[in-house]
Amino acid sequence: MSGRVPGAGEFEIIARYFAPLSRGAPLAFGLTDDAAMLLPRKGRGLVMNADAIVAGVHFLPDDPPDLIARKLLRVNLSDLAAKGATPRGYLLTAAFPQDVAPGWIAAFARGLRTDQKRFGIVLLGGDTVATPGPASFSVTMIGEVPGRRMLRRSGARAGDLVCVSGTIGDGGFGLAELGHAHEGLAAAQRRFLIDRYRLPRPRTTLGPLLRNVAGAALDVSDGLVQDLGHIARQSGTRLTIEAGAVPLSPAGRAIVRADPSALGRALTAGDDYEIAFTVTKARLGALKATAHRAGVPVSVIGRVERGAGVRVLGAGGEVIEAGPGGFDHFAR
Ligand code: ADP
Ligand code: MG
Repeated sequence: MSGRVPGAGEFEIIARYFAPLSRGAPLAFGLTDDAAMLLPRKGRGLVMNADAIVAGVHFLPDDPPDLIARKLLRVNLSDLAAKGATPRGYLLTAAFPQDVAPGWIAAFARGLRTDQKRFGIVLLGGDTVATPGPASFSVTMIGEVPGRRMLRRSGARAGDLVCVSGTIGDGGFGLAELGHAHEGLAAAQRRFLIDRYRLPRPRTTLGPLLRNVAGAALDVSDGLVQDLGHIARQSGTRLTIEAGAVPLSPAGRAIVRADPSALGRALTAGDDYEIAFTVTKARLGALKATAHRAGVPVSVIGRVERGAGVRVLGAGGEVIEAGPGGFDHFAR
């Protein structure tokens, strides 16, 4: 479909800014054909996922364009990582406001290039349109697993342990920092949190290694408790989490020390882009070796039980309800 982008025609944008990003994918034909091809390697299954972002909803119109582009790729890479897939390439649908500046598109494309290199992916195709509304972008990321071995949300069994990579809450705290500063936070910690919000670190090394150890897995992007609820539902189990075992960064710990109710926000805020997963107790040793190999810290935060839903336990073993206002219980 076409929709003119004044100042720079659609075809000029594709040729100038996007075609160079398809180098390394000979079957993308330099973005000069109607479509691209991707040859799955022998015995591999393709895994794919799409995520869209809209100005004013997922980013601010005056955010740096290169960071918008990199976050767009990274949120999609995070989904594939949680499925145990190795990413190969992506399709990009870009809707630019009619008055977009060429410099904005150039910076956006630079951001794409930076993370293509970092994560070993290439642009395969897409669509470019002009919109009378806010800018919006959708990426379809394509990766591979051996055979059908994509990690599923449905693989948790009673008796398993619940684990999470990295630290939880930083992205949410970073977003909050953009509005109002938390008390008692050092400038470096503040920068760390905002950086985590703007530029997630998808667990692309850990993810494929988890295929050999994890039962269920998913990407933590909408809040740890809510996302664990998806594993509970799809697996037909209950997940019980110990709030005190959820890993926090030094900056996150500083915020929670000053305001214990902030722990509830860390568990529900989202923008973590970590992997939550389950392992059998017998595989805990193998998991530790795997985490070491990936260079990513992994924490055991709870257990899988018979039942339904997600329970969060406080320091005294009491159940903290996650209902409306429930996490206020953290504010003792
Ligand atoms: P059509 O009119 O058939 O949709 P287009 O002119 O939109 O064709 O696209 C021409 C080629 O450029 C296609 O290979 C398409 O995948 C690619 N392309 C268009 N926009 C983008 C984009 N934003 N990113 C990557 N490839 C793109
Ligand atoms: Mg098109």
